[in-house]
Amino acid sequence: DIQGQRLLPVLLKIAEEVGSGAGSKGQVADYIPALSQVDPTSFGFAVAGIDGEVIGVGDWQTPFSIQSVSKAFSLALTLAGSGESLWTRVGREPSGDPFNSLMQLEHEEGIPRNPFINAGALVVTDRLLTLTGDASATVLRLLRTESGNPHVDFDPVVAASEAAEGDRNAALAHFMAGYGNLENPVTHVLKHYFSQCSIAMSCRDLATAGLFLARHGLRGDGSRLLDRRATKQINSLMLTCGAYDAAGEFAFRVGLPGKSGVGGGILAVVPGLCTLCVWSPALDRCGNSVAGVDALDRFTTLTGLSVF
Ligand code: GLN
Repeated sequence: DIQGQRLLPVLLKIAEEVGSGAGSKGQVADYIPALSQVDPTSFGFAVAGIDGEVIGVGDWQTPFSIQSVSKAFSLALTLAGSGESLWTRVGREPSGDPFNSLMQLEHEEGIPRNPFINAGALVVTDRLLTLTGDASATVLRLLRTESGNPHVDFDPVVAASEAAEGDRNAALAHFMAGYGNLENPVTHVLKHYFSQCSIAMSCRDLATAGLFLARHGLRGDGSRLLDRRATKQINSLMLTCGAYDAAGEFAFRVGLPGKSGVGGGILAVVPGLCTLCVWSPALDRCGNSVAGVDALDRFTTLTGLSVF
């Protein structure tokens, strides 16, 4: 029980201190042109308890582009479907390089460092495509079911915008295919990856959809999506790799597993208790929401709700 009444004043204080300055520091992502249209002063923050109670402040009910936050969900589905064999194709170490970096792929012979950098997420999408025949639809279905919102959907404008500027991701995919680390045609993998990244959701829906990560793998209806071990592994990877080359800084400041996206969203997990979702589109140079990290830092400091 998160006792929303107790936490609401904390969220209101954070919205006043951080949310009111949202957009004054950082830049909205513009390498995906459709994302540059978003209002940088937006700020939303939601907390969902494992019993399903959700509270929020600011723009917590406004849909935004979830981008790389989707990687936590595609990884969950892939581990649920193919288990440990995934780890022969992708590593578990933080990269220390930008999320779209090509550099380490050559040293590691086409095996990405972890599933949350773009190269790793492309491998996960490839595996999910083989497992299900339709990777992005499977991710969308999970997000709809777990959020309880059947209106959650792809944003075709964002997906097309990313595809039109998608040379970096295409290069990563082709490079891995050259090492035999993709099972499906590059064009299919990219299409599903861009679609999954384009999904639009609010803080309310994303926090709720992520609750299986706080429930040791249990879905909202009590059935099991993941075993305890796989859920622990995803949370661990979110802590060590979820914020790319700022993952150390994120762990230092926030003290929680978290997954960020260049739409400005961050999903964080307090295992056994709740999930947090914050959204504010202005990003730091690593691609993490400036106000989002600040808000999470204050939340865990004020409440003591971190894994440490
Ligand atoms: N779709 C984005 C990309 O591939 C996701 C990146 C992100 O959110 N960090 O570049």
